[in-house]
Amino acid sequence: MSAPDSRLDSAVAALQRLLTDPQASALPPEELQGHAAFAALYRELAAIRGHLIRICRGDLSQTIRERGVLSGHLKSLQAKLRHLTRQTQRIAAGDFTQRVEFLGEFSAAFNAMAEALARTTAELERSEAQYRLLAEHVADVIVTLDRAGRFVYVSPSVCRLTGHTPDQLVGRPLAEVTDVGAAPRPDTVIELVIRCRDGSARWAEMSTAALPADSGDGAVRICVLRDITERKRLEANLQQMATTDELTGAFNRRFFVQLCQRELVEAARRSSPTSLLLMDIDHFKRINDRFGHAAGDEVLRQVAVTGRQILRAEDSFARIGGDEFAVLLPGTTAAQAVRVGEELAVQLTASFGVAQWRPEHTSVEGLLHRADCALYAAKRAGRNRVESDASCEEKEE
Ligand code: GH3
Ligand code: MG
Repeated sequence: MSAPDSRLDSAVAALQRLLTDPQASALPPEELQGHAAFAALYRELAAIRGHLIRICRGDLSQTIRERGVLSGHLKSLQAKLRHLTRQTQRIAAGDFTQRVEFLGEFSAAFNAMAEALARTTAELERSEAQYRLLAEHVADVIVTLDRAGRFVYVSPSVCRLTGHTPDQLVGRPLAEVTDVGAAPRPDTVIELVIRCRDGSARWAEMSTAALPADSGDGAVRICVLRDITERKRLEANLQQMATTDELTGAFNRRFFVQLCQRELVEAARRSSPTSLLLMDIDHFKRINDRFGHAAGDEVLRQVAVTGRQILRAEDSFARIGGDEFAVLLPGTTAAQAVRVGEELAVQLTASFGVAQWRPEHTSVEGLLHRADCALYAAKRAGRNRVESDASCEEKEE
């Protein structure tokens, strides 16, 4: 082989290494030093190779100064990729108008993605607006709470319920405006009292659900509060009607019997004496006949007032018939109950019957019957007096 041929071969081999060897140097090898044209070609190809490798690795920061078709295409590819990066950044910032026209099949995929994102986002916004509208226009109050039980979101209807605006509540703990101490547990429905802005109190029913942990604003619970003040008032009225006598405000017979049942179980447990005092106004009919029914009613009301004045808080006082009243006296023997009767007799012209409860007496009705017996004895003995059931037993014997 002649010398020029072998130099040509080594030049070709060096250029080929640029195409095949990842470690090929960017500088021409020594054997090309004497060949200015080959060496220049080597440098140019090595530079284009370097640019291509960096672009493939995602580095778009290099400046391509080389001229020629290959370098021109590389420069154009680099510019397109830079432009695409900026467009993607704009999409990330929420601008979905970006479109790509220069990357063939990729352009179509990119544009479809941008359109899908725009559609999904619009859909989300529409649905979020709908829920917000719902939250803001239902009569119920919708709130979200953070882990510490502080308001994160409060719907505007809170104004009607509490007098506070949402702004005044956000950031404050639920415990500050209600009687609920801790953050409510999910899947619970509780009744609570709300302290309103004007100092009044309202009842609400609150149902609580858990929010997904990553709701974004720190909220972990969503609660719906419904004003139940009116229902509570009706319930209290019903309770009042079921337990008390309308004319005098004393307990009614049915509730009094229930109370006695409970009280007697308790008395048996503590083995403490308990007595029943019955009272019937003397010649009450005459008051009605002489002064009219309304005056009679007033007398009955006054009897209740007198009873409340003389009796203790733990005594249960009831109107159990027309002009007949009953008092259950816990911790009281028959002798002590007789003295209570005498005290009442100073204020009222009435007859009294006393019976002390004994463990062998199982029913309240039995106790009432024995007190009634004693009352009958008081009437027979000339009225305006107190008799205990000991006297009727003597007579029964
Ligand atoms: P006694 O001394 O034997 O008890 O005679 P009395 O006149 O009180 O007769 P009694 O206790 O048997 O009758 C009670 C009367 O009370 C009968 C009824 O006309 C009257 N009365 C019952 N309920 C009411 C009421 O709600 N209002 C009024 N004004 N009178 C009533
Ligand atoms: Mg009477």
